[in-house]
Amino acid sequence: MQDVVIVGGSLAGLRSAESLRTGGHDGTITIVGDEPHLPYDRPPLSKRVLSGAWEPDRAVLRRPDDMAAIDVRWRLGERAVALALGDDHDHHDRAVVLDGGDRIGFDGLIVATGATPRRLPGQEEQDHVVVLRTLDDALDLRERIAGGDRRVVVIGAGFIGLEVAATARQLGNDVVVLEGGPAPLVRALGAEMGEAVGAVHADHGVEIRCGVKVEGLAPGAVLIDGGWHEPADVVVVGIGVAPATDWLDGSGLRLDDGVVCRPDLNAGRALVYAAGDVARWHNPLFDEVMRVEHWTNAAEQGALAALNLLAESSGQPTQPYAPVPFFWSDQYERRIQFLGRAGPDDEVRIVAGSVEERKFAALYGRAGRLRGVLGLDMPRQVMPFRNHLLERISWDEALELATGA
Ligand code: FAD
Ligand code: NAP
Repeated sequence: MQDVVIVGGSLAGLRSAESLRTGGHDGTITIVGDEPHLPYDRPPLSKRVLSGAWEPDRAVLRRPDDMAAIDVRWRLGERAVALALGDDHDHHDRAVVLDGGDRIGFDGLIVATGATPRRLPGQEEQDHVVVLRTLDDALDLRERIAGGDRRVVVIGAGFIGLEVAATARQLGNDVVVLEGGPAPLVRALGAEMGEAVGAVHADHGVEIRCGVKVEGLAPGAVLIDGGWHEPADVVVVGIGVAPATDWLDGSGLRLDDGVVCRPDLNAGRALVYAAGDVARWHNPLFDEVMRVEHWTNAAEQGALAALNLLAESSGQPTQPYAPVPFFWSDQYERRIQFLGRAGPDDEVRIVAGSVEERKFAALYGRAGRLRGVLGLDMPRQVMPFRNHLLERISWDEALELATGA
């Protein structure tokens, strides 16, 4: 394997390139990224970059020397529009096609194109309506809310919605969050714990209205089911993302809410892997097909996809990707951490602190097994459970460990 192309110049793509080099790849690595920037970190975009505490240079993922050391050919500001895979035994026809018409041939490929925000119908025609995914989005939103005293309506009480609400509120804006589902963060945490996070927002004077159906957008307002107009100077749409796979249509790769991968992250063709928000795979540890949209996954999956690509190219066995998923979210001065996977039918038990104190740890269990651990400002209670989740301990053992009962 001489030439590797990585499509997607962000966290998963960067980690793949670094892992290829540390794994011994001395051929070429080309990274195609449609943003004009070298890889930067997204988490600060809704927090310290948005608040103005950080300028964009603080969010870069690597210093120039470290970036130079991986010796990558960058194709930034260029978009992959198609993928030709040809024959697995003859790499001659394999190429990524760019929007300017160039074709970049490769032996090995890593798809790391992440995800793009979903939009509401007619959103593009409204100047006061924005999304937050990129550095440029963050700087645009920052300019709109930095002075405070704006009425900010956030649509969606997921991660973007709640983090933006917290930052916008801290900047002195009047903030309302409209959520379609029954509670904030309901998919990630379940209704009960989602409401506990919602209470922190209420403490700061941010109203989260759930079960609201947004009917449309109008100049200076959001239109809500029942004929209501919610006045808004700025509207932030945070209604989830879709995996960025449009450029793979017709490539022959299996697409189903992401690139469908084997447990070792191979995308079904020789020397083709996927990683990060775009990859869907069966996680043997949780016996669940998943696509994870969080930082740690993009970093770890990018690294393993590259090592497995190298292993396949040299006839060595590949490794399944079997992580304990993890995310954190900073809202106001509080840090939410979650290890594992929450499901709608989980039993949830608070094992330390309390919702009233806005400081607690909770266990999630299903079918007699520990499935997840949540902490609100309780890092020391959460992180030790990573090993217990790897060991697949039972629900009873987990309760015993957490409470000493
Ligand atoms: P992405 O970061 O989406 O990168 C994919 C790259 O590929 C992008 O640059 C994209 O423009 C490019 N691309 C897409 N299509 C093409 C194409 N056809 N051709 C060329 N390039 C293409 N996670 C946490 O765990 N904790 C947090 O606190 C947290 N905060 C976040 C805050 C914000 C504002 C956002 C947006 C995300 C946050 N996340 C957080 C999630 C985390 O940042 C993502 O899971 C992570 O960025 C995914 O990395 P990725 O490389 O898979 O995809
Ligand atoms: P998200 O976390 O999936 O949340 C979207 C929310 O919007 C969901 O609660 C969803 O409800 C709701 N929704 C969907 N359609 C709606 C509508 N028409 N009206 C009102 N509510 C609606 O997605 P996100 O908040 O947009 O975040 C985007 C991506 O960035 C995600 O991948 C997220 O993981 C990532 N991110 C992560 C972090 C972090 O880990 N700390 C921080 C920021 C961003 P349903 O689920 O019922 O559709």
